[in-house]
Amino acid sequence: MDTVGAARLVTVVRAWCTTCGDVALADGARTVVLRVCLDWPHAEYRFWCPGCARVSAVSASQQQLAILQDIGCATEAWRLPRELFEPVPAGAAFTPDDVLDWHLALVVVVGVDDLEYA
Ligand SMILES: [Zn+2]
Repeated sequence: MDTVGAARLVTVVRAWCTTCGDVALADGARTVVLRVCLDWPHAEYRFWCPGCARVSAVSASQQQLAILQDIGCATEAWRLPRELFEPVPAGAAFTPDDVLDWHLALVVVVGVDDLEYA
C-alpha cells in the first residue's frame, strides 16, 4: 500500500460492468481480481460492481492484464478441465436414443419409477 504522509493512496480503476457499463472502482487494486488461464491464452478480471452489486467478469487484453498486475491486483490461475485433453473414445457417439434405452433399462432392473422423492 502506498502512502503520502498519513494519507493512504488508492488506485481508482475504470472497469466495464456487463450490466451497468463503465464504472469506477475505488481502491481497484483490492477490488479487482485477475483470472488467468494456464492452458489457453485467456485472461479476465472480475469485481463486485458498486452500481448493481453483482459480480462482473470481463475478458482482459494483455495490456489491461499488465496494468492490473502492476497496480497489485490479486491473480487467480485456472486450468481447463482435464477431460478436454483426454483421447476421444472409439465407437459411435452417445445419442438421445441411448439415454432413453438407458432409462428403460434402469426402470426394469432397479425400478426407478417406483422410487419416491423425499
Ligand atoms: Zn454493474
